[in-house]
Amino acid sequence: MAIPVMKTSAWIRVRNSKIHGKGVFAAKRIPKGTRVIEYLGERISHAEADARYDDHDPNDNHTFLFIVDKKTVIDAGVGGNAARFINHCCDGNCESVIEARRVFIETTRAVEEGEELGYDYEIGREPDDPPNVDEIFACRCGSPKCRGTMLWPPEDPRKKKSAKKTAKQSGKKSPRTTPKSGAKRGRADAAGRKRSRKS
Ligand SMILES: [Zn+2]
Repeated sequence: MAIPVMKTSAWIRVRNSKIHGKGVFAAKRIPKGTRVIEYLGERISHAEADARYDDHDPNDNHTFLFIVDKKTVIDAGVGGNAARFINHCCDGNCESVIEARRVFIETTRAVEEGEELGYDYEIGREPDDPPNVDEIFACRCGSPKCRGTMLWPPEDPRKKKSAKKTAKQSGKKSPRTTPKSGAKRGRADAAGRKRSRKS
C-alpha cells in the first residue's frame, strides 16, 4: 500500500531560528523514531536542478534541493512544505530516510517541546566547488560535535568504504539508499543528502 503523503505535521511549528532563518520546532514532545514530516517539493532531474539554479549566487547557501537518487532531486523551492525549513545540524535530533523514492524526516531521539529539529545535510562536495565553499556552507549549529560546515567531509582517497560508513552513520533503521561497491562516485553516492545549488 502506498505511504500516505505527509504534507503537514501536528508535531511541528515553523518559526524564526537562531541557527539560520526560519527553523522547525517541536510543538510537543516527539518520541524517538517518529516520522515527523515528508520532504516535499517538485521532483526534477539533476540536469533540471542545474538549469534551474544556474545563475544562483554561489555565496548563498540556501538550498531546498534534496537528492533522492541518481535520477531525481526534490526541489522544495517549488511546492515545498515545512520540511524545507528544518535546519542543518551536525549532531541533530533527526535523520532523513528514503523510502519508496520519497524522503521523510524522522527523529533519532526524543525531542522536547520547543526544541529545534535538525539533521545532517551531508552536502556532497563537487569538483567545481569554489575554494571558500566551507565558508559559504559554514555551520553554526552550536553542537559540541559541530564540523563547522554543512558539507560532508572530503573523502579520503585511501579508503573506499564511504558507502558503508554512510549507511552505518545513518542508523540501522534507515533504509537510505547507499551506492553499491564499485558504483561510480558522484551524485549517486549522494542519495539522501541535500544538494548545493550550483551545478
Ligand atoms: Zn554544525
